[in-house]
Amino acid sequence: MQHGELSERRRVPPTHPLYGRKVYIPRMAQGSARAVAAVMRSLGVDADVVPPSDTRTLELGGKYSSGDECYPLKVTLGDFLRVIERPEFDAKKTAFFMATGQGPCRFGQYVPYLRSVLDRLGHQDVVICNPSCEQGYSDFGEASDLFTRGMWRALVAGDVLMKLLLKSRPYEVEAGAADRIYEESVQELCAVLETPYPKDESQMIALKECLLRARRRFRTLPLEFDATRPLIGVVGEIYCRLSEFSNRDLVRRLEEAGAEVWLNDFCEWIWYINADQFEKLRLHGRRISMEALSACVRNHIQHKDEQEVLAMFREDFLGYEEPRRVQEVLECAEPYLPACGANGEMVVNVGKAVYFARKGLDGVIDISPFTCMNGIVGEAIYPRVSRDNGGIPIRNFYFDGTQSDLERDIGIFVELARTYQKRKKWKREVPSRAFAATF
Ligand code: SF4
Repeated sequence: MQHGELSERRRVPPTHPLYGRKVYIPRMAQGSARAVAAVMRSLGVDADVVPPSDTRTLELGGKYSSGDECYPLKVTLGDFLRVIERPEFDAKKTAFFMATGQGPCRFGQYVPYLRSVLDRLGHQDVVICNPSCEQGYSDFGEASDLFTRGMWRALVAGDVLMKLLLKSRPYEVEAGAADRIYEESVQELCAVLETPYPKDESQMIALKECLLRARRRFRTLPLEFDATRPLIGVVGEIYCRLSEFSNRDLVRRLEEAGAEVWLNDFCEWIWYINADQFEKLRLHGRRISMEALSACVRNHIQHKDEQEVLAMFREDFLGYEEPRRVQEVLECAEPYLPACGANGEMVVNVGKAVYFARKGLDGVIDISPFTCMNGIVGEAIYPRVSRDNGGIPIRNFYFDGTQSDLERDIGIFVELARTYQKRKKWKREVPSRAFAATF
């Protein structure tokens, strides 16, 4: 079979609810979201990210929510309603992608809420595509296995490109050059992922070649590396952290204030979901079950794919190594929020803050939506995390779509990070100057 040909196994069947519809995906970690849309297209489903959020997003999201809901709900709802406002909108040919879960917070309510708003507005025909995190985001009809693996590869690759961007952009000689390379690389990644390769192996070969080309572009980008620029780890609620609109482009603002950012990646969340699934199986006495076996196989395949990609970037990510297993993060969180008793992003955020401190970073920021339960719990714990880890500055930045003096707060935080940098006990492994010069 030729590349580009859709086999029956790869094609979403006419009985699938997404058949013949255009799926809109929330604009979260936009490179990764675009890559996931490309994976859907490889299955014969038309898909794209929602258009960039703007003030109309907040107007519509605010109009159809009470103000008690989480900020990510308001933004995603507003973005979907903007799609509905388009003249070409056809409810019978539209689907909205909204993940769901049964965690301890309000995330599980997003899908029913979106459904109720759509129904109230007379759009009962719009389908909500809601793969659940408890099922590893895998309930995608007959093409589930292909979607799950393709989506995983999309997220791994998306994280790699974001990491390359963030470790280059603060040092670029020509303003905008790193963003251009990133955009070019994301476009190429999407072209690879939307191609229905006959075998998983051939997709992986194409993916690796594409990432190597991206690596070459970033390595030849002229940079002026400065080892004294503070490196700030950014954790927090996944949507707000990865949606530039929602966090008012905090990462870029930190860079403009003189910092470099290590943004907690997307894949860590999936690893946490997988670990949580095992914990639940253990609690229900189902450690030896078909479900556990299938989760083990999925974990094994995902780990293999991830390692295969990351192996190519060992040199590039020297000093930026992610934990090999999410258990390392959970162990870091153990004294504060033991994973057997606490659940949700707060565990990962607290654990990663500890990991960042020991990796020699100069500060940690937790990006959370205003009133987010995870952010509030984290904020209560961070002073102790900081005390136990050499006094590393950690602070929450909350977002709800209103204005605040972000520049002033960022400036103060970066100064704190500079002060801490001079006295920190864990030294950071910085890229060598020779490498940085050609990087
Ligand atoms: S993590 Fe926070 S913002 Fe997200 S759904 Fe839960 S409470 Fe809301």
